[in-house]
Amino acid sequence: MIIGLTGGIGSGKTAVSDSFEQLGIVIVDADLASRVVVEKGKPCLEEISKHFGSDILSQSGELDRAKLREIIFKSKEEKDWLESLLHPAIAKQIQDELSDSSSPYTILVSPLLLETNQKDFCTKVLVVDVPIETQIERTLKRDGVSEEQVQSIIKAQISRQDRLNQADEVIVNDGSLEDLKLAVDALHKKFISET
Ligand code: ATP
Repeated sequence: MIIGLTGGIGSGKTAVSDSFEQLGIVIVDADLASRVVVEKGKPCLEEISKHFGSDILSQSGELDRAKLREIIFKSKEEKDWLESLLHPAIAKQIQDELSDSSSPYTILVSPLLLETNQKDFCTKVLVVDVPIETQIERTLKRDGVSEEQVQSIIKAQISRQDRLNQADEVIVNDGSLEDLKLAVDALHKKFISET
């Protein structure tokens, strides 16, 4: 059984996945997978440097993410090219990690679970939901960014209602971290009973 865990910025995905991990559940992180496929020596990084030129690499041969972001921000064509290279590679990386898992069920945590085909890997979708004010307050405290920046990220993400409409399970993260742990414990028991 694969549980897809998602939620908006600062909703508590990491706090929730940390709690599942403490219960012995394997966590596959889609953000990490998307970084692994462009590590030094990986075929995707070679393709990227062939396509954009070796200037896209730092002196030590790592991907210069800021430079790449700048290019794809300016050109839809380049963005599409990059996505068509990376999406299948990321999907394969996620699939490999999921099939390596030996815990009773596995969590796939992804901010883009519902916006990508990553949800197709999942038996169920678990959404961490918080009121928007709490989401903003916690993100500001964590990242020290401006409220406008957080608002614009929230606007670019799928809406709270759309996300909730696609949820099989919801954790409402509007209490303490202790309350959150208790909610995870309860869901863990439920998932175990369903395996
Ligand atoms: P992102 O998508 O931006 O990576 P996220 O969904 O993983 O965010 P977290 O990093 O888990 O969110 O939580 C955001 C911040 O809020 C963190 O600093 C976290 O410690 C804090 N936080 C999460 N849940 C609670 C809670 N119930 N009470 C207090 N603080 C919380």
